[in-house]
Amino acid sequence: MLQPTNSLAPQLLAGNRRALARTISLVEDGGSDAHALLATLYPHTGRGHVIGITGAPGTGKSTLVNALAKAYREQGRTVGVIAVDPTSPFSGGALLGDRVRMRDLAGDPGVFIRSMATRGSLGGLARATADVIAVLDAAGFDRILVETVGVGQAEVDIAGAAHTTIVVEAPGLGDEVQAIKAGVLEIADVFVVNKADREGADHTVMALQMMQGLAPVRAGHHAPAAQGWGDHGAARSAAQHVEAGAQPDGAWLPPITKTVAVRGEGVAQLRDWIEIHASYLVATGQREKRDFARATATLSHILRDELMAALLARLPAGQMSEVTAAVARRAVDPYTATAQMLAAFLNQSADGISESSQAAGSQP
Ligand code: GDP
Repeated sequence: MLQPTNSLAPQLLAGNRRALARTISLVEDGGSDAHALLATLYPHTGRGHVIGITGAPGTGKSTLVNALAKAYREQGRTVGVIAVDPTSPFSGGALLGDRVRMRDLAGDPGVFIRSMATRGSLGGLARATADVIAVLDAAGFDRILVETVGVGQAEVDIAGAAHTTIVVEAPGLGDEVQAIKAGVLEIADVFVVNKADREGADHTVMALQMMQGLAPVRAGHHAPAAQGWGDHGAARSAAQHVEAGAQPDGAWLPPITKTVAVRGEGVAQLRDWIEIHASYLVATGQREKRDFARATATLSHILRDELMAALLARLPAGQMSEVTAAVARRAVDPYTATAQMLAAFLNQSADGISESSQAAGSQP
């Protein structure tokens, strides 16, 4: 008999990887065992920095996440990776991207990689992702990288779980303006133009700069010597680097940084930008604000799901489809129908509460 909260949590907290993998599977499946386990782990969370990486398919996210994990390992930091694919029904591990990743990072106990896929609904996926983040956080991973394919709402939802969100662009994939429409630019804390070895990378950098409302070239700035690689466009993006980050008014101007993920170029600089952003969040109190916003979203999601489940469980069999049919044929409007179902549910719940408190011998 499985005793998740009794044995699994202590093993996980002690660094046992099998316990970690088992816990993640349980948590992904949801249910009361998972909730009990998460409750035990929750006091141990809040230390890891969560980094969301999103972008269109083919921009090089998987390659970049791999390189970034290595860059963190070089600093001795441990890394958890969650690859979320809302377009794939496969979950739990051996996706192609993972096998590519595993080759580099396999056997390193400081790295843990997990794939997640559609779990019925996007909301379900976002919640499962948040739960798996909590598990990796409790397990003590310093940095948690959450990679999502940019397919619309998914990356925005999942960005809500991240402290630092990285939006990956690549030259030649077409219309950057599309990204703005999808709301992806608004969520970026750091922009990456990957495939900087390809023609058009500087054009992509400039397009992003223009979208940020910046003049594409600013006079009087010198490229830092550290920016020792890249093409003639490096000076321009380096000039922008000088000005990006924390602004005099306390706002954060997302830096635009170039990488060649396949060769690891620019990845240390990206890592450093993430760390600057992490420090900025703490120094300005925004990390606390983001954690509060995340708690708000998590609570309201869970409340909504649980209330809905409780209500559906109390409805007499077939009533939901009857009401739905009535709304569809215009016999009743959806607000009235909802109000009636809610009133019935709340009355039943009130009865249930007073019954159970009487049974427990206490006052309602
Ligand atoms: P994802 O779909 O965003 O996860 O992208 P992948 O990481 O799978 O990369 C897509 C393709 O782009 C692969 O063939 C990579 O080898 C290639 N790629 C990734 N980064 C770079 C880069 O910096 N330069 C070039 N030329 N190719 C890259």
